Amino acid sequence: LLSPPQGYYTRHGGVGEGGDFVTSPEISQVFGELIGIWYISEWIAMGKPKAFQLVELGPGRGTLTDDILRVFNQLGSLLSKCDVSIHLVEVSPKLSDIQAQMLTGGKVQANPEDESAYMKGISKTGIPIFWYRDIQDVPPGYSFYLAHEFFDALPIHKFQRTERGWREVLVDIDPEVPDRLRFVLSPSSTPATENFIQPEETRDHVEVCPEAGVIIQRLASRIEKDGGAALVADYGHDGTATDTFRGFRNHKLHDVLTAPGTADLTADVDFRYLQKMTEGRTAMLGPIKQREFLKNMGIDLRLQVLLQNSRDTATREQLLHSSDMLMNPEKMGDRFKFFALLPHHRLAPPDNNQKPELAPPSLPVAGFGELLLK
Ligand code: SAH
Repeated sequence: LLSPPQGYYTRHGGVGEGGDFVTSPEISQVFGELIGIWYISEWIAMGKPKAFQLVELGPGRGTLTDDILRVFNQLGSLLSKCDVSIHLVEVSPKLSDIQAQMLTGGKVQANPEDESAYMKGISKTGIPIFWYRDIQDVPPGYSFYLAHEFFDALPIHKFQRTERGWREVLVDIDPEVPDRLRFVLSPSSTPATENFIQPEETRDHVEVCPEAGVIIQRLASRIEKDGGAALVADYGHDGTATDTFRGFRNHKLHDVLTAPGTADLTADVDFRYLQKMTEGRTAMLGPIKQREFLKNMGIDLRLQVLLQNSRDTATREQLLHSSDMLMNPEKMGDRFKFFALLPHHRLAPPDNNQKPELAPPSLPVAGFGELLLK
């Protein structure tokens, strides 16, 4: 995916209707708007800190951030005293160009090598935006994190249980067919089989994404240290799925070993593994189904307003169709899950020893319970 000369993300970028796969923000503006409201709601619940960074991992075409920035702009009077900045973690030069075009109209400047951000610009709504290759380059500070369809794009190790113990699934050149790759089992155990398989594992085939583990730990440590929250959405399982690694090209399943670099590669996210990696540092809410999260965030109401405001039938049909894509259990509604990482104190039960009038009211976390629309 990320090979500099040949990688799928480095060369193509593939997200969107004309690409190889479509994601929720590309389907409907409502998706990003509701996520924008989630951040505002958490910002209020956490006592309206004077500044925050919105940090998005793997922003694709930049559509989600664009929709969020529109909401921030519409609620400008609320945020007027808050210093907001956008920080995008993106490795693909092709996609960062597309993001720059979408968010700033192309008005960006490359930074010298010794600066942590490789590029910077100002959004159409006047908010500074910075681009990085790694989450560790993003300056510390109170931050809201966003990772939508990011973790599923990270590389996995695959393992197979055999009579002789765990073996790693490796990619080999087929000796019989020129220019063909094939899967083989490692002849013995490997450093990965030694380190990444849990002793209590019961499955026969396991996929592990250590990079996802490292990144989620970094997010949890940053939230624990500097405050903020993370919202993560992806498809995945609770540590029970086995062989999920697959490719997509032109919106169709594609053999992962055929024509590498021309198809998107993905594996379902192991939410239980991610939760384990954050334990102790932050609290986790979810994962809950996308349709529940969006419903709790008020998607029905937002859809009603948009339907009332649209004059032609085609627009109305498009709105209904896109909302069905996001919410229908048979489409994206059940498959995609949302979870949030929050500082422990955000969810702490009220302290009974404290006088009720002194204890700050703890607001429910939007999306994971019903949103109080006031
Ligand atoms: N969030 C977007 C795009 C998802 S595609 C959407 O929902 O539409 C995955 C994104 O992650 C792409 O932008 C890809 O370039 C980026 N990406 C993949 N691996 C990455 C890595 N290791 N570090 C940073 N970005 C990465």
